[in-house]
Amino acid sequence: MSRGMKITIDTDICVGCGFCNEICPQVFFIQGEGAIAVTNLMSSENLESAKEAAEKCPVDAIRIE
Ligand code: SF4
Repeated sequence: MSRGMKITIDTDICVGCGFCNEICPQVFFIQGEGAIAVTNLMSSENLESAKEAAEKCPVDAIRIE
């Protein structure tokens, strides 16, 4: 199910608040002032929390395709 899922973060609008990392530390890491997503660790379990992180991102910078 999670195969081929791609997570991207629009680093131009990410404000580095860290919510995504708090909600889903398996997938999102904060580096400097922006978040980076690591997609090679995606599992269906992670996908659920990754989706939650995307919903809670204050600037809607996370895309899951
Ligand atoms: S929740 Fe959104 S704005 Fe905050 S660090 Fe993550 S991607 Fe950036």
